[in-house]
Amino acid sequence: MVTPVSPIYFAKSQLQFLIDVLRHRGYSVVGPTVDQEAIVYSEIQSIDQLPQGWTDEQAPGHYRLKKRDDESLFGFVVGPHSWKKYLFPPKTTLLSAERTESGWQFITRSADTTKFALLGVRACELAAMRIQDQVFLDGPYQDPLYRERREQLFVIAVNCTQAASTCFCTSMKTGPRCEKGFDLALTEIDSGFLCEVGSERGREVLDVFVNLARRASEGTSVVSNTDNDNVISPSIDDATPEQLRLAENARQQAVAQITKHMETSDLPGLLLSNLDHPRWKDVGERCLSCTNCTMVCPTCFCSSVTEVRDLNMDRVERERTWDSCFNPDFSYLGGSLVRNDTASRYRQWLTHKLDGWHAQFGTSGCVGCGRCITWCPVGIDITEEVAAIREGASP
Ligand code: SF4
Ligand code: SF4
Repeated sequence: MVTPVSPIYFAKSQLQFLIDVLRHRGYSVVGPTVDQEAIVYSEIQSIDQLPQGWTDEQAPGHYRLKKRDDESLFGFVVGPHSWKKYLFPPKTTLLSAERTESGWQFITRSADTTKFALLGVRACELAAMRIQDQVFLDGPYQDPLYRERREQLFVIAVNCTQAASTCFCTSMKTGPRCEKGFDLALTEIDSGFLCEVGSERGREVLDVFVNLARRASEGTSVVSNTDNDNVISPSIDDATPEQLRLAENARQQAVAQITKHMETSDLPGLLLSNLDHPRWKDVGERCLSCTNCTMVCPTCFCSSVTEVRDLNMDRVERERTWDSCFNPDFSYLGGSLVRNDTASRYRQWLTHKLDGWHAQFGTSGCVGCGRCITWCPVGIDITEEVAAIREGASP
């Protein structure tokens, strides 16, 4: 149960104190940064590393960074990275073995003590984390690395104030408003942020942050990890009705910009009842089986385990790496490929995500983030494929 706290308002420069408090508490703070002409997630120490004044333009097979005409820190949507890489890393060493004089010695992975604080998590991404929690934590077998990192995770959500042409979170009922699953949630308005509390841990951090920022505004020396020591800042206070109204308007702007839609009333059921629909062949001719859609998807969780030895044959590592149902070898079973053409692999991905996932996990595997549409090199759009299968579908 979270102790109710009224939303507070603070100025943009004061976000630095929140980063400082988290770093002081041993968190590695990860947030959006600009790198290689995209907004990607990376460890940050300072608000100067955030993509201030940048936005992203997205369409099927298209992503471009553009300058905004204001200095927004979170004035963009989602990029090619998702937060899953911090809880379910692309490559993990599960076990290693070393040859010794007395034979092979096995070394198991030691507990992971990394504490991540994620800054800028969107509503669809919170939903994706809840889905991956079900996959990695709720079944009969828990993933220990995921559990260790998830238990220590601190989440600062940021409500979307704009949407891309590829977003359809409203169809999947996952956004754009952050409703649950965060410690703190921010909404950016012109001069600052409205901050809501979502957990007791969030409230504790907020108390320390407010004290620190108030002392700074009074000119008292504060402990800070950055060059912003002793900055004189405006004070923090409960949000005014006008600030609450501005924040609501900003959030509604994102809702108004969402134009993409996926009809879900007949999902699950529609796809698995139409496994012979001609659209599968059609999409199979366009799809490159490149795996991009599964790599950028915040809910996809397939992996493979391989054993890699060094050249001296003295050390072997068992590695788990992200894999994809679009890789032909992923369905190699009993001496042959179970899904030996692209159409069958695309069908596997879509039917699992939107249909089979319901039976397995009680939820859709799609949160409507639109990444698979943007980052598909040939612009295949999951919402268009579902709509096409619905046309002329068997009952
Ligand atoms: S299937 Fe596409 S739109 Fe849905 S969650 Fe994955 S990347 Fe996002
Ligand atoms: S749907 Fe697009 S992104 Fe996915 S495997 Fe096919 S070509 Fe690649």
